[in-house]
Amino acid sequence: MEAQSKKFSGKVAFVTGGGSGIGRATALAFAQAGASVAVIDIAKSALDETVAAIEAAGGKALGIKCDVTKSDEVQAALNKTVETFGGLDAAFNNAGIEQPVGLLADVPEDLWHRVIGVNLTSVFLCMKYQLEIMLKNGKGAIVNTSSGAGVTAIQGQAVYCASKFGVTSMSKAAAIEYAGQNIRINALCPGIIDTPMIGRFTHNTDEGRERMIAQEPVGRMGRPEEIAGAVLWLCSDDTAFMTGHALVMDGGQTAGM
Ligand code: NAD
Repeated sequence: MEAQSKKFSGKVAFVTGGGSGIGRATALAFAQAGASVAVIDIAKSALDETVAAIEAAGGKALGIKCDVTKSDEVQAALNKTVETFGGLDAAFNNAGIEQPVGLLADVPEDLWHRVIGVNLTSVFLCMKYQLEIMLKNGKGAIVNTSSGAGVTAIQGQAVYCASKFGVTSMSKAAAIEYAGQNIRINALCPGIIDTPMIGRFTHNTDEGRERMIAQEPVGRMGRPEEIAGAVLWLCSDDTAFMTGHALVMDGGQTAGM
């Protein structure tokens, strides 16, 4: 592998939702760039597959089954990461779930709590305990997965929007709080990315996929690897002067909104 692609040699990355989609692509990209990667997911078999793929490519990974809505599990996962790899340089807080399309008054209360728990409370918990470690180390970079739905309102997605606007604004507020301590925090706002989550909306039918693609001015869905590239960039020294930013990467989907 070329030296240029080993930008994260000797670094430690922590990726939640690493068992699928954007998280898996990002865990693989970090490993390919030389990082030791803690792959966090609630789905054990999925995270095992990501770890196996990283190891098969000659990378270093540690799989940790963890429900990111649970404080004790998040703390244990971070402790295990530091114990195993000796630090924490980059964190990608990305685990999330979708809201089935529906009007707010029809949303069951338990769905509200679930979406807010997985998409927003988890980011709070992850950042809270990652910051403790990064403050001790005197450096760090955090990227939180928001969404186009974290910068603009989408009909039928009120709960998901609430969770993702929360991620965007919490990332910005925290960025200001820790900018002086050499810790950068940015949010990433993907458009429609071709992952199992989108497959659940399209039922993987041609008609369903066409409906999604019609919302994308570039005429295609994004690829998880494209989002992974942006995450690595945001965690690299190339963006040392960037913090508190919400980077929209969405094929133009929200540009006219
Ligand atoms: P995905 O469903 O393919 O992957 C999500 C992963 O998160 C899964 O492996 C799942 O097991 C894990 N997860 C769910 N709940 C968890 C929990 N409580 N604890 C730990 N892990 C948990 O989805 P994806 O498309 O890769 O989405 C990743 C992130 O990107 C999500 O936050 C999502 O909201 C966001 N996003 C996705 C899109 C898109 O079009 N795919 C667009 C914008 C934002």
